[in-house]
Amino acid sequence: MTSPLQGEDRRFDSAPAHHSRRKQKMLGQNFLIDSNISKRIVDSAEISEGEKVLEIGPGRGALTELLSSNGNLIAIEKDKWLAVVLKQKFKEKVQIIEGDILKWDVPPIDVIVANLPYSISSPILFRLFSYEWTRAVLMFQEEFANRLVAKPGSKIYGRLSVMANHFVDTKKLFKVSKTAFQPQPKIHSQVVKLVRREPDYKLDDFDTFEKVVKSIFTHRRKKIRNCIKLTFPNLDLDNLNYMDLRAEILTPPEIAELSNSIFQLKLK
Ligand code: SAM
Repeated sequence: MTSPLQGEDRRFDSAPAHHSRRKQKMLGQNFLIDSNISKRIVDSAEISEGEKVLEIGPGRGALTELLSSNGNLIAIEKDKWLAVVLKQKFKEKVQIIEGDILKWDVPPIDVIVANLPYSISSPILFRLFSYEWTRAVLMFQEEFANRLVAKPGSKIYGRLSVMANHFVDTKKLFKVSKTAFQPQPKIHSQVVKLVRREPDYKLDDFDTFEKVVKSIFTHRRKKIRNCIKLTFPNLDLDNLNYMDLRAEILTPPEIAELSNSIFQLKLK
């Protein structure tokens, strides 16, 4: 295999020549080639001097270049060849970690900025929720972003919307055409801003909440009573609210109330 150190400048600005298309696909390597979009993403993060910034999947450095003017940038890249080239390019200006965001312990961070590998957006997002940070500007597949920000009453409001809402406020910022990438993905993308905050309800037990959310949205055409019966077959549900409704109209605080009632029944 050719060393990534030979002719890396040429290779850095084109698709990494040492990769099979299969490996590029596996790693979700659709690189941003539209510098206006890179700038809009970085500007949207509103990074103040001294804030600690994490970039996930810096790739060929389209965002890294702009983020590196902030002195506290850590970027984690799974592709070892790209990591080598990035280390050479940015030297001590950026701390490049060669690693997998799904295995790495994220240090305390203020801001996260990333054009995420789409096939693992969901596991990355939920892993990030277990760490400390205050806001994130992330690019997702458009369909995923729409489900993420969906509100009660919408056909696409579901498990992703409710679980994400537990941790963050979400706001769609702008759509990105597939022509902004090389190679081009099949679908458009969407940039979303996430801001950490406490939810507007209190939970008695997070595990029960997760189970209830999964249960009521897995069979979203069924009444809530029938969904809950499948997941918690031994509970007497007669005195619970919302049993004859469908999940898609319940707000997160109502789902939290349902989860708390179920947790109390489990304790009896
Ligand atoms: N940020 C660059 C850009 O906008 O052009 C690249 C974005 S590309 C959609 C996703 C990047 O994430 C690729 O560089 C890929 O190698 C990297 N990647 C994929 N899976 C990863 C993982 N589990 N941990 C860290 N980086 C990963």
